[in-house]
Amino acid sequence: MPRPVRFNIHAVKADQKDNISLANMPEGHVGEGFFATSLSKAVGLARKNSIWPLPFATSCCGIEFMATMASHYDLARFGAERLGFSPRQCDLLMVMGTIAKKMGPPLKQVYLQMAEPRWVIAVGACASSGGIFDSYSVLQGIDQIIPVDVYVPGCPPRPEAILDGFMRIQDLVGQESVRRRNSEQYKALLQSYGIQ
Ligand code: SF4
Repeated sequence: MPRPVRFNIHAVKADQKDNISLANMPEGHVGEGFFATSLSKAVGLARKNSIWPLPFATSCCGIEFMATMASHYDLARFGAERLGFSPRQCDLLMVMGTIAKKMGPPLKQVYLQMAEPRWVIAVGACASSGGIFDSYSVLQGIDQIIPVDVYVPGCPPRPEAILDGFMRIQDLVGQESVRRRNSEQYKALLQSYGIQ
């Protein structure tokens, strides 16, 4: 006998339907009828809640990322629903998987094609350090060729860990000064990777 199909077994209460949580407001001065903050904080608030990731997935960690994007973990909750596969449109490079040395130059090219400001997450042991592949053919961490902002440990990291890494990136993005990308320290960081 077939099982009966049941829809909406947990009906949403009427008073919960409009229960949309808003992003926390940045630090600033609140008065009657006004709120004042700095330009960097306002820009950071917008940027951190509208990140467009570029998934650079080469192996198993990419499968964990698929789960992170799916309905159960739902990365879209963080304003990052729109994945992009064009570097020109994205601001967060998510490197997931083993990066062979032959793959290094294409990865660096993708990074260079992204416009500033851009951020990078190394997801999993392979992208962070080469992982278990201590061999002649595998890059021992993508930070040998491009700067990395956040490392997510694990082999593979669970979707919760990827979400945690994403939230650390949101913290960095929200606190970044609009002047940082023109600073001497940032130029020196890029030059240390041979990027002008
Ligand atoms: S860290 Fe582990 S799960 Fe991730 S790509 Fe490497 S071997 Fe696969």
